Amino acid sequence: MAAGAARELEAILDAAVDPFIACGPDERILHINAATERLLGWDREQLVGRPVTDLFPPRLHRFHGLSLPRYLLSRRKALGGRPTRVFARRRDGVELQVEVTVGATGLDGDERIVFTLRRLHEVIDSLEEPVEHISSGSGVASHQQTVDRLYRLLVENAPLGIFHFDRNPVITACNDLFASFIGTSKRNLVGLRLLTLRDEGIMTCVRESLAGRPCDYEGVYHSLTTGKEIPVRIRFAPCYAEDGTVEGGVGIVEDITERRRVEAEREENLAQLDLLFRGAPVGIGFLDTNLRYVRVNETLARINGIPAEDHPGHTLPELLGEPGAIAEQGPRYVLRTGEPLVDQESTSDEDLGAPGPRRWFRGNLYPVRTPDGRVLGVGVLIEDITERRRAEEERAHLYREAQEAIRVRDDFLSIASHELKTPLTPLSLRLATLERRLERGENLDPGVLRHARHQLTRLTGLINDLLDASRIEAGRLALHPESTRFDLLVEHTLAGMEGQKGNHTFEFEHPREPISVHGDTFRLEQVVSNLLENALKYSPDGGTIRVRLSLTEDVAVLSVTDPGIGIPEDQQQQLFDRYFRARNASTRSYGGLGLGLYISRDIVERHGGRIWVESAPGQGSTFYVALPTLASVQPALPQVWPDRHLH
Ligand code: ADP
Repeated sequence: MAAGAARELEAILDAAVDPFIACGPDERILHINAATERLLGWDREQLVGRPVTDLFPPRLHRFHGLSLPRYLLSRRKALGGRPTRVFARRRDGVELQVEVTVGATGLDGDERIVFTLRRLHEVIDSLEEPVEHISSGSGVASHQQTVDRLYRLLVENAPLGIFHFDRNPVITACNDLFASFIGTSKRNLVGLRLLTLRDEGIMTCVRESLAGRPCDYEGVYHSLTTGKEIPVRIRFAPCYAEDGTVEGGVGIVEDITERRRVEAEREENLAQLDLLFRGAPVGIGFLDTNLRYVRVNETLARINGIPAEDHPGHTLPELLGEPGAIAEQGPRYVLRTGEPLVDQESTSDEDLGAPGPRRWFRGNLYPVRTPDGRVLGVGVLIEDITERRRAEEERAHLYREAQEAIRVRDDFLSIASHELKTPLTPLSLRLATLERRLERGENLDPGVLRHARHQLTRLTGLINDLLDASRIEAGRLALHPESTRFDLLVEHTLAGMEGQKGNHTFEFEHPREPISVHGDTFRLEQVVSNLLENALKYSPDGGTIRVRLSLTEDVAVLSVTDPGIGIPEDQQQQLFDRYFRARNASTRSYGGLGLGLYISRDIVERHGGRIWVESAPGQGSTFYVALPTLASVQPALPQVWPDRHLH
C-alpha cells in the first residue's frame, strides 16, 4: 500500500469513535487507533509488537483451549456479527467491560485479525439524558420517564456516592460523587468489573448483596488511579428484578474522612478529660440509678480506701459497710428528689461512724441527666478537708491562746499594779508617823520601823520575782551550783521565816544523815522560802506547816504540807505556769503575782529535779521538790586512777 494511502487509512481509523486493534497471524499488535489509546491508556508506539492478549486480563488469555483471538474468530459464524462481552484491561490494571467484534482478512501467511471494541456505557449515557427529552413525553411512558429522571436527579445530587452493579459484578451506573471517590470519571467506571478494585472486604459485601443480604463495609479505599486513600463506609443492598430474583446491587458510599477526624478529635478530648478526671485533687465518681459505682477517680478511691478498679458495679454499703450505708442516704435523696446536695460536710467518725482518726469531708452530689432530662445517675464530688479543718482548728486554738495571753497580761498588769501599790500605802504611812515622831522629838517605835522594813522587803521580793521571771524568759537566769547541804539549807530558811509565821507552827522532819546536793544555794533557798510563804499565805486559819525531808537512793525529796485552802484539781497542772493563779486565790484575799512557782519550777528543773503538787480544795496542799543528791551527780570514778579520789 502506498504511504499516502496508509496515512489516509490511519487518519480515517483515528477519526472513528470505536477503538480498533489490528494484529498479525502471530497475534502481535500491528496497529491501534486513537480511540483505543484513549480507552486503554496506551500510546500506540508502546503497543505495537506486543501480544494482543496483553490488552485482556490473564484469565481470558486462553479460552476453551484456544487463544482469545482464535476463540473469538471460531465463534464468529455462530454469533453472526453480534459482539461478545469481555473484559479489557487498561494500562493501569483496571478492567473495563467492552463488547468486542473480531474479524480476519488476508491469507494464512498475511492474515490480519481486527478487533473492534465498544465501551459499555449506555447506562451512563441515559443518565445524562437532557431534561427536555423527558418533559416532552406524555402518557404512561412519559410518567415513567419523569420518575426515572427524578430518580436520576436524586442519585446525581445525593451527598453520597452511589453505584449500581449487575450480577457479573460490573458497574452499570454511578453518580459523579462516586467517580470522584474512585478518582476517575463516570464514563471510566461504568462497565468496570468490581473485582478489579482488588478489595476483599468490598467483594465480600458484593457477594452478600448478590445473595440477597444487605451488608456494610468500612475501610480505607486505595484509589488505583490517584493513589489516594479515602476512609469510606459503603452500604451494600441487593436490587431485585421484577420476578423477584436478585439482578444486581447498589452501593452507597460515604466518605468518612471527616467523621474519622471528628472521632479522633473526640478520642483526644476524651483522653484529656480522662487525664483531668484521674488526676483531679477532688474525689469524682458516678453512681448509676441503682446507686452502683460506674466509675471513680484515684482521689475518691483513696478517700474510700479501696482501689479504683474495685468500685465499678458495687454500692457504697457493699464497699464500705455501715458507714457506706449512711453515706448512701445522700445520693439516694438526689435520685428521689432530682435535687442536688451542695457543700455537705460530714465527719468520718461522728457522722458516718467510721473507725480511725477523724476525717472531714465536703461533698457535692448532683443528678446527672441526658440532654432530654432523663436521670442517668448521681455525680459525686468529694473533698477531703481534714487538713484544712485541722489548720482551722489550730488557728482557732492559737487565737484562743493569744486571747488568753492577752487576758493574762491584762490581769497581770492590774494585779501587779495592785500588788506593787499595796505595800506602798502602809509604808508611806509608817514613814510619815516616824517623821512626825522625829519632829516632835519622841522615841522611835521599833515596831513601826520593823513594819516599814517588812513592806520594803515585800516590795523588793515582788520586784525580784518580776526580774527573775523576765530573766527566765530570756534564758538568762544564772545558776552557780556548788556542793550544798540541803538539810541545813531548809533548816536555815525555816529559821529565817520565824518572824512571819504568825499563828502557824512549823514542823520539820529530816533524816539524821546529812543530805548534800549540787546546787545554787541562793536559788534553792528561794524555792524553799517560796513554798513556805505560800503555805503560810494560803492557810489563812493558821495551823501546822509540816516540812519533811527524805532521802531515797539518790534523790532528796522535800515536801511542804499545809492545812490551807487547797487547789482545784483541774488547775493543778497550770500552777507552775507564768502568772497563773488558781481560781480560789482571789487577788483581794491573797496577794501575789503568780510568779513564785513558775520561777521555782525553772530553778528545780535546771538542777535536774522535779516539782509537783498534791492537793484537794479545802483540804490543804503538799508541794514536793525532788533533787538529785550530790553523790548521784558525781561523775563516775575513772577506773585507772582510783587513788586520786581517795582524799
Ligand atoms: P502567787 O504569788 O500567786 O502565790 P505562786 O506562783 O507562788 O504565785 O503560786 C501560784 C498559784 O498557786 C497561787 O496564786 C495559788 O493559787 C496557788 N498556790 C500556791 N501555793 C499554794 C498553796 N500552798 N495552797 C493553795 N494554793 C496555792
